Order: sequence, then C-alpha cells, then structure tokens
Amino acid sequence: MNELPEFQALGIAPELIPALLAKGFQTPSAIQTLTIPTLLSGEKDLIGQALTGTGKTAAFGLPIIQTLEAAEYPQALILAPTRELSIQISDELKSLAGAKELRIAPFFGGQIITIQLAELKHGVDIVVGTPGRIMDLHRRGKLQLDRLQFAVLDEADEMLDMGFIDDIREILSLTNPDKRMLMFSATMPEEIMEIAGEFMRPGYDIANAGGANTTNIELTEQYFHEVKREHKIDALSRLIDADSDMYAMIFCRTRADVNEVAEKLNAKGYRVEALHGEISQAQRLRVINGFKKRRFSLLIATDVAARGIDVNDLTHVINYSLPSNAETYIHRIGRTGRAGRHGIAVTFVTPGERRKIKFIEKDIGTPIPQKKLPEISDIINAKKEKFAEMIALLIETGDADEYLNFAEELCTLGSHPAEALAAVLKMHFKNELLTSSYTEFGQKEKTDAPDMKKLLLFAGRADGISVPALLAEICERTGIRSNQLGKILCRADKTFIHAAERDAEKILKAFKNDPEWRFKYDEPREERRRKKSEHKFEKSPEENSSEKPAEKVRRKKKSEKKSAPPRKPLREEFWSWIGEPE
Ligand code: ADP
Ligand code: MG
Repeated sequence: MNELPEFQALGIAPELIPALLAKGFQTPSAIQTLTIPTLLSGEKDLIGQALTGTGKTAAFGLPIIQTLEAAEYPQALILAPTRELSIQISDELKSLAGAKELRIAPFFGGQIITIQLAELKHGVDIVVGTPGRIMDLHRRGKLQLDRLQFAVLDEADEMLDMGFIDDIREILSLTNPDKRMLMFSATMPEEIMEIAGEFMRPGYDIANAGGANTTNIELTEQYFHEVKREHKIDALSRLIDADSDMYAMIFCRTRADVNEVAEKLNAKGYRVEALHGEISQAQRLRVINGFKKRRFSLLIATDVAARGIDVNDLTHVINYSLPSNAETYIHRIGRTGRAGRHGIAVTFVTPGERRKIKFIEKDIGTPIPQKKLPEISDIINAKKEKFAEMIALLIETGDADEYLNFAEELCTLGSHPAEALAAVLKMHFKNELLTSSYTEFGQKEKTDAPDMKKLLLFAGRADGISVPALLAEICERTGIRSNQLGKILCRADKTFIHAAERDAEKILKAFKNDPEWRFKYDEPREERRRKKSEHKFEKSPEENSSEKPAEKVRRKKKSEKKSAPPRKPLREEFWSWIGEPE
C-alpha cells in the first residue's frame, strides 16, 4: 500500500494507514513530523511543544499504538488535566488504533468507580486519566503501573497550573524507571523543565513545533474593537448579527461574566451555551457535544473550562474580556484559523485597557489593529445579502417551483408584484431588516413587543432543560422559527418563554398531552394574587359574559385605571400569597 506516503515516510506502519485515511488525515502536522520518527526508533524521552489543535495526540498516540501489542496489564499511561480531555484523548486513540486490538479507556473522577474497576479487571493496554483518579485507582490496588512502556503527560503546563504537581510526582515515582517518558505542552514554564530534570532520562529530546511563545497564526485575522464595558453585550450582538455563519467561542475572564453574557444573549434570542468550572460533568459533556455537532454555534467559556476542547473549525474567537497575557491570548485564538482555514480573532478592549493590548501585541510580535464595529446598516446589508443568496439559489435549483402558481396569484393582489413580495418579506422578517428596530449603544434596550405572552414550563435546568434544547424541541413540534420567539429564561425548576399569542397557542397545543412538558400561560405575580383573592370573595362579572375578547380587554383596562383593587386586610393578603388551607 502506498497511501499517505508522508506518514509512511515517518515510519508509520501500513496497518495503521486505513484508520488515518478514515479520519481524513492527509499530511502529518509539524509536531507529528518531529516526534513520530524519534518515538518509533530509539529510546529517548521527549518533550513536545506545540499549540492546541496541532495534533499532539496523534504525535504520541500513533507511535504508542504501533509499538504496543495487547497484553493483560497497562503498558501506557497518559495523564491529562480534565475529564473531557481524558475522554477526548481516549476517543482519538481508539480511532487512530482502527482495527488494531488494543484496549484503551479513560478514567476520571465523577464517573462511578465500580465501572472503571470492572474495566481494569478485564485488562486495559492504554490508560488515560486525570491524576486524581489514577492515584485513587492505584491506591485501591487496582491499577498496576510498574510495567509501562510509555508514560505521557499531556497538557503538562495545564496540569501544573491546576495544582496536580504532587499527584504527578507520586504517580511517576510509582512507575518503572525504564519506561519512556513523554511530555506535551503548549507552553514551557520552568516547572516543566524541573519535572523533566527529575523524571526524564538525561539526553531527552525537545521537539518544538512552535508553542505559545512563537506565533503561527498567519491564517487568523486579528483585530480589536474599543468597547466600553457597559456596551459589550450590544457590541457582541452586533458582531453576531453581522455574520450569520458565525461558529465561535466567546471567552470571558470569570465565571460570573460567562453566566451574565450567556443569560443576556439567551434573553436576546441567541442560541448560546455556557461552560465554566461550576457546571456539572454531565452538563459539560452535553454542552461540548452539542457545540461540536453544531446544535448551537456560540459557546461562552472561561479559559480553564475551554482548555483542550477539541473544536477545530471555529470561524471566530471572541475575547469578550481581554486575556491577561500573551500566552492566554495565543491559546484562545489558536482555536480558529486552523487546518488551512481563515479565521477571525476579535478582542474587546475597554478604553482603560489600551495599554494592555499593546503589550500583548508586542509579545506575540504581530500587529492587532483596531477596527470599527459593524454599523447597523452593515448588519442589515449582510442579512439582505444572505437572504438574496438563498433566494437566488432556490431559483436556480427550482426548489421553490411548487409555489409558482400561488406566487402568481399573490402578485395580482397589489398593483405591482413588488408589493406582494414586500408583504411576504414583512411576514418573514417582521422588522428585522429595518434600521428602526435596532438600538444605538447607550440607549435603553427595547423591551419585547407588547403583545408577547409569557409561557411557564414546569421544568428547568435541574431537569436537564437548556435553552437550545428547548428551542429545538419547540421548533420541531410547532414549526415556529427560533427567531420568532421572544426571551427565554431558564431557571432551576422552571422556564419562562415569551412568544406572540399565536405562537404561544401553538406551543400549548403541541405539548398539550405530553406529561413531561407541562406549559401554561404565566401571569404576573400581582395579577395572580389579585385574581386568587377576587375569585374567593366576588365573582367577577367577566366570567359569564359573551363579550368579544377585544372589547373585554378594552373595558378591563379602563376599569383598572379607574380604581386600584381594594386593599385587602393583611390576613387575606397573606393567605393569597401562600394559598389558603382547604
Ligand atoms: P492538540 O492535542 O495538539 O490540541 P489534537 O491531538 O486534539 O490536538 O488534534 C486536534 C484535531 O486535529 C483532532 O480532531 C485530530 O483528529 C486532528 N488532526 C490531528 N492530526 C491531524 C493531521 N495530520 N491531519 C488532519 N487532522 C489532524
Ligand atoms: Mg491535546
């Protein structure tokens, strides 16, 4: 077989080629070119430095897979900083192994340990795990570490940052000294060299494919916008609106910022998810998977939570908060402009942070020019252009021809066909393409249209509800488009959805007989209270009337203006709050 000659030239055996072809690998990455031959021949230990997303897993994984034969005990140990990374590395190795029979498994905290113990009992060749869980399994006497051929520290800098140094030392000292030790990292802080000095055999190799001290980010267009803190959300919305194909990670410095940005964007109707250290493991995996599968295209994250998430083809990285140093900056923006694709890295800089961005610019050695935010007219034009493209495509493919007769009919309604088309546009876009529906920065945010109804769903985050999942469910069952809906607020045990009355009715109908999705109209608390007490003490005249709804509403409004509801004695008010005992 003479496929993938560049991989074979590095020493990769023909038996591994089908798996690489299946994964779509064509040429080895820089770090792979450097490490694969060294690891396949000779005995040297090795440090590999390369940016995130440059294929470090295969750089150590392919030689390990090629070298090992299935046995009854662990022959390779790979330590990684987080659960996600352990899973990700394990999955990547499994796919690289292809048909070769090696048992590869991830071990991490948070998963029931008995499952992992059972797995170990059956024999695992390549153990991937977080330092904490590996220590735990070893202490229980279930994980043998003294017959290793390879020990690998992946994302070593991150593991040190997370304070795993003691665990790592302990684990390494339990392993057999004649193994080969490998360390991979995007940066090379001093502690890494210390670990190397302590645990690697002298004369180890350093393979430097350009880490975070050097820049290999030519494919990424970088610029910054100067934005006041209080305008950041508006600025972000504008960037998102200006690019309908955006697939982006948005970085914030703190957990609180992540939550705030996610909540505000959700409330504005964007589909986003958040990732930070306080999110449960199950939720994290769900979010990461959803993002990879593009169920939603905007992920808000802190640096630590985002570390190592393997998403390759972001169109944008947005630094909502300025990264604290050049290394973090490079790490973040290294997630776009990969694999030969053009990427954009946008940084928000507050007026007070101008000096800081200049420092980062100097450190990375590439200019980061300032750019103006897109104007409202740019956004509208972008949307129009996109729409026109779609229309042109539909005309070209003839996919809309089924509607030709109806279209002709509609065109007779006005004195010019454009009138009919304009009406269709109005129905489709409402006010979305009108300048008047946008607010300038600094103005008060527009509230939802007055005819928006609020629905209450008796389930929330604790029940596994998330805004994107909910939107998907609603849109699928009702045919409503997600941008037709108003704010969605997902609380722990309940969720509020704003929707036009017609849509609200549709939702109620679509979920009516489904006990898992109980929706009802929500009324303002004040009104709920008042109604409850009214109901008890006086029968309202409306109840039996056959008035038309509009008239009813008009009359009700008038009477409300006339007199506020009579003040009830304190006791009654109290009962109406908590519900009078039966
Ligand atoms: P790193 O550990 O350096 O952050 P990964 O090993 O997670 O990077 O690889 C990132 C992605 O690139 C993975 O999806 C992997 O399958 C893919 N990849 C790795 N090597 C190659 C290659 N030579 N050609 C194409 N894709 C590759
Ligand atoms: Mg990696």
